[in-house]
Amino acid sequence: MSGSRAPGSTPWQRVLITGGAGFVGSHLADALVAQGCRVTVIDDLSTGRFENIQPLVGAAPGSHGRGSFHFAIESITNQVVVDRLVSECDIIFHLAAAVGVKLIVEDPVRTIETNVLATEAVLKAALRYRVKVLIGSTSEVYGKSTRFPFNEDDDVVLGPTSRSRWSYAASKMVDEFLGLAYHAQRGLPVIVTRLFNTAGPRQTGRYGMVVPRFVGQALRGEPLTVYGDGRQSRCFCDVADVVRALIQLADCPAAVGQVFNVGSGREVTMLDLARQVLAAGDRLAGRPISGSAREEDRIRFVPYQDAYGAGFEDMPRRVPDIRKIKAMTGWEPTVPLEDTLARVIKSFRGE
Ligand code: UDP
Repeated sequence: MSGSRAPGSTPWQRVLITGGAGFVGSHLADALVAQGCRVTVIDDLSTGRFENIQPLVGAAPGSHGRGSFHFAIESITNQVVVDRLVSECDIIFHLAAAVGVKLIVEDPVRTIETNVLATEAVLKAALRYRVKVLIGSTSEVYGKSTRFPFNEDDDVVLGPTSRSRWSYAASKMVDEFLGLAYHAQRGLPVIVTRLFNTAGPRQTGRYGMVVPRFVGQALRGEPLTVYGDGRQSRCFCDVADVVRALIQLADCPAAVGQVFNVGSGREVTMLDLARQVLAAGDRLAGRPISGSAREEDRIRFVPYQDAYGAGFEDMPRRVPDIRKIKAMTGWEPTVPLEDTLARVIKSFRGE
């Protein structure tokens, strides 16, 4: 995916990425600049990090392909700024959101307000200039459904409002409803993507994400903290695959007005993930990365109560049904988890 886009190959060239200094957004910015787009990122750096986009900011014009890069450090609830940026773009990837289970449990006000108010602001401005919007939603909206794999048309099953964890799912559902309503009622081109667990360089463990947490712990020689009994599973998709999915959907006129799962179908338990992180780290270092080679010393089981406080409900499984995006665009994940883990470990080591 390098070089500039062929003229006329896509209806959009000027791109706005909200939350573009975040994990997924910054990789998307890299890919689109490399393809020759004019990319503008708006991010208040609340959870995003400047260093994620620093190479783009500091680069000489044209050195990342034929595209260009612009950055606004601003909240997307600033209507004046959002209005101007939206008026100057052909498509918006709306990825600004409060993410990470830890943040949600600790700061539900920020979660709800960031997610709902930001999406409202983006959709209002998009309608004014009739700009296409791809909304980044989350697999969290499926809640604790036990019908696997999760299909876009499945019912969702959320817990009570007294448990703040569910505010994340509910707020992202409001985002989805709002986006789909702008499409149905006002004719705005909106696409909703539900991102499942994504992994890759630049993801931070600060907000609870398991892959960077395990890698950080392993490289510091600390035991990996497996919550519960470690039999809960997730499907991790490499961020490069996720970025490709977002671009392909945005390029697909038939995707408008619809919801798509984006994720990998390959499931791994958290205990196996911990073992794979340790094995990959050992392989790359040529020796056990944490002092001991004994699994009892390298993996620590932590009760959920200690990790998240009382009353937290973890999802035992999260598996996407990805037939819809595949049928629509031909997309499927390509990067094996082993490769993703190796890349994350190398990036942690500054390689
Ligand atoms: N998890 C874990 N140890 C950690 C952090 C997370 O065992 O240090 C578990 C967590 O309980 C969950 C899984 O890893 O079962 C994925 O957690 P993450 O927060 O990355 O994603 P989500 O729960 O939103 O799918």
